[in-house]
Amino acid sequence: MTRRTTKQISVGDDRCGIVLIGGGAPVVVQTMTVGPTHLIDACVAEINTLAAAGAQLVRVAVPQRKDTAALVEILDQTSVPILADVHFHYQRALEAIEAGVHKIRLNPGNISDRRQVNAVIDACGERSIPIRIGVNEGSIVERKDKKLRMEELGKVFSDNRNGHLIALMIAKLEEYLDIFHERGFHDICLSAKSMDPAVVIDAYTEISRRFEYPLHLGLTHAGPRETGTIRSIVALGTLLANGIGDTIRISYASDSIHEVNDGLEMLYCLGLRERKGPELIACPTCGRIQVDLFTLVEQVRRTLDDQITIPMKIAVMGCVVNGPGEAEGADVAVFAGDRRGIIYVQGQRVASVPEPEILDRLLLECRILQDRVRAGECTLGQKNVQIIPPDPIGELGSGVERIEAGLVEQVTVRRSG
Ligand code: SF4
Repeated sequence: MTRRTTKQISVGDDRCGIVLIGGGAPVVVQTMTVGPTHLIDACVAEINTLAAAGAQLVRVAVPQRKDTAALVEILDQTSVPILADVHFHYQRALEAIEAGVHKIRLNPGNISDRRQVNAVIDACGERSIPIRIGVNEGSIVERKDKKLRMEELGKVFSDNRNGHLIALMIAKLEEYLDIFHERGFHDICLSAKSMDPAVVIDAYTEISRRFEYPLHLGLTHAGPRETGTIRSIVALGTLLANGIGDTIRISYASDSIHEVNDGLEMLYCLGLRERKGPELIACPTCGRIQVDLFTLVEQVRRTLDDQITIPMKIAVMGCVVNGPGEAEGADVAVFAGDRRGIIYVQGQRVASVPEPEILDRLLLECRILQDRVRAGECTLGQKNVQIIPPDPIGELGSGVERIEAGLVEQVTVRRSG
C-alpha cells in the first residue's frame, strides 16, 4: 500500500533512542500508563514492561506537580521516549519539558490563556521537543466567533454523514495550528479522536488531505478490550490500509499491554511490520471436532510467546478437512482426530500422539525447529513435502478412518532446496 507522505518528527534522545514519526518511517506503536506517574517505581516498571512488549513510545499523565517532579527519575530508568500528557495546567508542561520529557501532548483548547500556550510552544521549540495537538470529539464546543467558519466547513462536508462533526474538528485544528504557526513552531503531530469508528475514519481521512503533519491515530473511550478491539481495529485498520496514519495508540479500559499487543498484531496483519514472534492459526471448530481444541489452542497461545521468539507459523486444526492444507501452509501444524493429534513440521509428518500429549509434543517440535532455524539448518516457510489431502474426505465425517488408513498422509515429494 502507498503511505501518505507527511513531514517527519523525531522523538527521543541519545539515551533512550530516537523514534521517527511520519515522513515514510514505519508506523509507531505507542501506549499510555494506567498508574499514577508519581509512584515512580511502579511507573518505571509499567513503562519497561510496555517497552519490552513492543511499545516504542509511552505516554504518562502529569496532572499534579508531584507527577512532573517524578519525571527526572523515571526518564533515567526507562529505555523508550516518554510523552507527557498535559491538560489544563500549562505549568505541568513546562515542568515536564524541564525534566527532559521527549514529547508533549497538548490540547490548546484546555488552556484558556494564549500566553500560557505560547510559553509551552516556545519552551518546546528551544529544546526541539515535538507537540501532539489533539482534538477529541468530546472537547469540541462550538464557539460563537467560529460559527460562520464552521457553517462554511459544514457545507464542504455536507455530503458526509458525520460532516458537521468533522467540520468542527477541522476548524478546531486550524485554529490551534494558527497559534503554533504564529510562533514558528512546526514540530507537530495531529490527532482527532472520537469514540465512533466511522467518525474517526472520516475525520482522519479529511485531515490527511488538508494537513501535512504526521497523524497519531486512535479512538477515545473505546471501552474494554472485548469490545474496544473491534472498534479500534475497524477504524485504525481501515485508515492504515489506506495509507493514513504514522503512529497508533489503541486504547482500552484494561491493562495497556493489550494495547501494545493488539497494535502490533494489527500492523503485522496489514504487512506494515515484520512479525517478530510466533503466529498462531487455529480453526474455529465445528461438529467434526474430536478433541478439546479450545483448551489446546488456549494452552498453545499462552505458552508460545515464552518459548518461541522467531516468526514461526503454527496451525492448530480440529480435523483433516482443513488440516492437511494448513499443515502445508504452516511451519508446524497439528490436526486432530479421534482423540489424537498428527503433527507436521515443514509439511512432513513427525508424530501422531494421543490427545493428552499433543501440547507438549507440539511445543517440543516448535522448539526443535526454532533451534534448527537458528543453527542455519533450515528457514521458516520452507516445505519439504506437499501433502495431498484425501478427496473427498467425506461430507460429514471427521476423516478419522482415513487418517487411520494412512490416506491423509500420502505425499508428493517436492524438494525445497
Ligand atoms: S478444521 Fe475440521 S474441526 Fe476445524 S472447523 Fe474445519 S472442519 Fe471443523
